[in-house]
Amino acid sequence: MAAIAFIGLGNMGAPMAANLLKAGHTVTGFDLSPAALDAARAIGMAVAPSAAAAADGAEVVVTMLPAGDHLVEAYEGGLVAAAPTGALFIDSSTVDVASSRRAHDLAAERGMMAVDAPVSGGVAGAEAGTLTFMAGGTPEAVERARPFLASMGRRVVACGGPGAGQAAKMCNNMILGISMIGISEAFVLAERLGLDHQALFDVASTSSGQCWALTNHCPVPGPVPGSAANRGYRPGFATALMLKDLTLARDAAESVGADTALGRHARDIFAAFAAGGGAGLDYSAVIEAVRGGARSGVAGP
Ligand code: NAD
Repeated sequence: MAAIAFIGLGNMGAPMAANLLKAGHTVTGFDLSPAALDAARAIGMAVAPSAAAAADGAEVVVTMLPAGDHLVEAYEGGLVAAAPTGALFIDSSTVDVASSRRAHDLAAERGMMAVDAPVSGGVAGAEAGTLTFMAGGTPEAVERARPFLASMGRRVVACGGPGAGQAAKMCNNMILGISMIGISEAFVLAERLGLDHQALFDVASTSSGQCWALTNHCPVPGPVPGSAANRGYRPGFATALMLKDLTLARDAAESVGADTALGRHARDIFAAFAAGGGAGLDYSAVIEAVRGGARSGVAGP
């Protein structure tokens, strides 16, 4: 069992750190939020007064932070310097590839192994320990991280070198965002043509229109009982996070000259929906924007 520092005890980090604790590791947490620290103490986790203090003596340092700036600032601000030689750095935040590679470099400059390991599965997956990790780093670093990731998730996919996990995450979520808008357009067209939601679902879910977003996150109530549409679009996977991921994908595409026209358009539709009040709703609520409803933020049909 290892001594682990866990930095960022938010919606995702708190249950992930709790699963490491349950697996028998010694976990020392740190978060800027006093409420997050209180919650960690309440489940028996040790907490430190700073990120650097948490990393002092840690064999593994896990970060689960909002964005790339937070990650690089934490690494530069004493996290890497405070960790003992040979510590392994795992970043599970969703960040831009450049920040991720900068974090890898900062660790490597001190001879530390690092892995970017963003997740898919959301808060429910973090709580249940069923996350999928997309891991980027040297094969040695990924293999060293694997048992720790396995304590927090069900699948670890080795994606390639530094930043490859982040690249995989943004490409996957670009597919998801585009898919949800396509599905929403099909259901709205069906509504206008007088075609029943269930009938469209029964056809599309067993025909060439079938896809994961349709059969798991169907944007209309009824066909998929567990989808957010059946609970007023309470997330789930919030629109704000989908917008974040599509923005990362757009920026990455621009930086490498990839023409992701649909990804860009999907990002703009989610941005307008978020600005119009949909940010806190499940991303499948984007069907409201497609319908041109009150929260759409975009011009109606
Ligand atoms: P969150 O905002 O709930 O948690 C982030 C935590 O980091 C907060 O508690 C904040 O106080 C803390 N923090 C910020 N800067 C810090 C610093 N310098 N030192 C210590 N703590 C600091 O966010 P979340 O939902 O837990 O998401 C975390 C990451 O996981 C994000 O990158 C997000 O994109 C990604 N993610 C989230 C989900 C989801 O469903 N919530 C799913 C997949 C990936």
